[in-house]
Amino acid sequence: MSIPAASAKATSQHALPSYLNPEHHGPWGIYLQQVDRVTPYLGSLSRWVETLKRPKRALIVDVPIELDNGTMAHFEGYRVQHNTSRGPGKGGVRFHQGVTLSEVMALSAWMSVKNAAVNLPFGGAKGGIRVDPKTLSRGELERLTRRYTSEIGIIIGPTKDIPAPDVNTNEQIMAWMMDTYSMNEGATASGVVTGKPIALGGSLGRREATGRGVYTVGQEAAQHIGLDITKAKIAVQGFGNVGGIAAKLLAQAGATVVAVQDHGGTVYNASGLDVPNLLKHVDEHGSVQGFENAEVLPDEQFWGVDCDILIPAALEQQITAENAHQIRARMVIEGANGPTTPEADDILHERGILVVPDVIANAGGVTVSYFEWVQDFSSFFWSEDDINARLVRIMREAFAAIWQVADENQVSLRTATFIVACTRILQARELRGLYP
Ligand code: GLU
Repeated sequence: MSIPAASAKATSQHALPSYLNPEHHGPWGIYLQQVDRVTPYLGSLSRWVETLKRPKRALIVDVPIELDNGTMAHFEGYRVQHNTSRGPGKGGVRFHQGVTLSEVMALSAWMSVKNAAVNLPFGGAKGGIRVDPKTLSRGELERLTRRYTSEIGIIIGPTKDIPAPDVNTNEQIMAWMMDTYSMNEGATASGVVTGKPIALGGSLGRREATGRGVYTVGQEAAQHIGLDITKAKIAVQGFGNVGGIAAKLLAQAGATVVAVQDHGGTVYNASGLDVPNLLKHVDEHGSVQGFENAEVLPDEQFWGVDCDILIPAALEQQITAENAHQIRARMVIEGANGPTTPEADDILHERGILVVPDVIANAGGVTVSYFEWVQDFSSFFWSEDDINARLVRIMREAFAAIWQVADENQVSLRTATFIVACTRILQARELRGLYP
């Protein structure tokens, strides 16, 4: 039976998948708004913009494991490849009780933008499992990781899609992922994941790379607004691999880290927290809670702390219309992915607070992931100095180009980064053309 054109159109509109709904709440809705903001700047490429609003491929997997007590548990896992126009999918894997498909979709889309913004030859992807890993033993965590890897094994691979660490995943989890994929392939494939231990083809400098990138773009942005980073007061939310390292590098440069918030609470010291000792405390106790030589602040007071630079380095949607008015910093550097809602972005912009967006600020991690992947392919490993120097060069050059686009178009750094990145992605899309 043939369907008349008009009703076919109506049918397809009625059948709009929920994730295309511009009213979508949560990170995916935020991402869609960011794409809408950049569309007027894409010229003739805007005819391809719909590509950016739909993930290329999304896989939902059941991850069953046997718990130590002999019972079975099922977890839901995802791997989303948002775009592969410029190269294989690339992006981390998150283990968190709040993980949902639409969150992973947004995170995968931000990877497409981030990778294009720093001109890495990758598309964007992301994965995750909805699980609180703190509730699992080491054996359970290993079984979960291995089963998940095996399930997503049908779409990942060194030339297809390359996972890496993200929230609550680390080098050990990457080692298990690499081993599981390799066992299934019958050959050691070190390039299937990045962020591995050095002994398995990991890269020097990878562990610190995201924090080092935050620090590097922070330095560049500070110069533009006439802020001396060595005298700056810093507040950091999230004290893991991103916030902890960024705080360490800033403190080493002479900055004063006055406040740190994590899942255990908020610690504050107007004359500066002892960052190396705080890192040790978090390592030993799992959070900032109980740290000596600091005042404990009620969590909601964190946003209003007197500081020059605020670094959200935890989860999405932390800076919102509710707290954006309280922020006293001169600049926000987004270590986390998606920490600022579009409404908060506008409030900060109106208040003259510079926002250095995630898609450039935290690109240091995936940049050194790229170096790791290249090193694995060539089986030739670089020195840490070499890696750090190349990282700093890429971050500085990308930031300078984005600053110029922002200046020329009188747009925010976020929109400027999206202009640069989406232009690259859609140029690749157009050159490749539609298949078939
Ligand atoms: N998870 C990190 C990010 O959000 C790194 C991804 C990677 O190295 O592939 O950028």
